[in-house]
Amino acid sequence: MPMILRKLRTTVPVSGVQATGIDSVTDPAMLAHRLLNLEGRQERRFFDHRLRMSTMHAVCVRSQLLGLRNNVSSMENLPVSLRVTFDIGNAIHLFLQNGGGYLGKNRLGWWQCLACGHKLFGRQPAAKCSRCGALEGAFQYAEHALHMPEGVPVSGHIDGFLEVSPGDIRVIDFKTINGDDFQAMTAPKPEHCLQVNGYMHYVQMDDTLPVRINANRGLLLYISKKHTGRFLPFKMFHVRRERMYLDVIEGKVAEFRHGLDDPTYLPQPLQACEASTFKSAACRSCSTYAYCLAALRQ
Ligand SMILES: [Zn+2]
Repeated sequence: MPMILRKLRTTVPVSGVQATGIDSVTDPAMLAHRLLNLEGRQERRFFDHRLRMSTMHAVCVRSQLLGLRNNVSSMENLPVSLRVTFDIGNAIHLFLQNGGGYLGKNRLGWWQCLACGHKLFGRQPAAKCSRCGALEGAFQYAEHALHMPEGVPVSGHIDGFLEVSPGDIRVIDFKTINGDDFQAMTAPKPEHCLQVNGYMHYVQMDDTLPVRINANRGLLLYISKKHTGRFLPFKMFHVRRERMYLDVIEGKVAEFRHGLDDPTYLPQPLQACEASTFKSAACRSCSTYAYCLAALRQ
């Protein structure tokens, strides 16, 4: 080897980094792990004084009351694969809410000026912020947080609103799902219909929204995560107000309210927990498991 090359090889670092470790890593998954932040995440979870609409179909009111009364918190592991799933879902939500392309002029919601915090409801602002003069691009979409009257322990964030004809404003919820589920889908999932029914119902009691929302019809938009360019990655379904869903929701809300008012009241355990004689995986990982069993013995 000519002297000059030999000298270069020993003295010039590759992009300023010691070439020792990383260049020997050629497995693509391993290389991603080495150079990206692919840590799992741990989050401490506390029990809330309200029932969240997005998990209403599965929530155990007994557990939530026991958790609140005993100040239970738990560490939840969010492995990186799940973190990516959530992040992709969130990214698609943000894209649909903030990009004008797909929902177009029918999209209604809150828009917040990032420069001064000013918030207004309606279509995406096409003018400067009326308060601080920031350019129209300074506005970011903000999901509507349900604001319930005293004594209604419900929370939720509504993805968006579509004005399908003048004055007919409907709740819309976005769901990103895996490609195979999407392909097979001919009807919306019941738990999602329940969630949209809950939004349609409780938003009627929310006096912070300046417009009236259709209480009988909403929309679910499914977005496939496996888009190949051959098929449309969107499927949209009507969601009708159905007593069946509202009975489930109102039953849970009434039980929760009862338990908040009366600290001696506790609803029965979930049927699935009883059926497993409290030995299911869900029972064993339940953060109020010991309290639940102790209350049964009383
Ligand atoms: Zn502003």
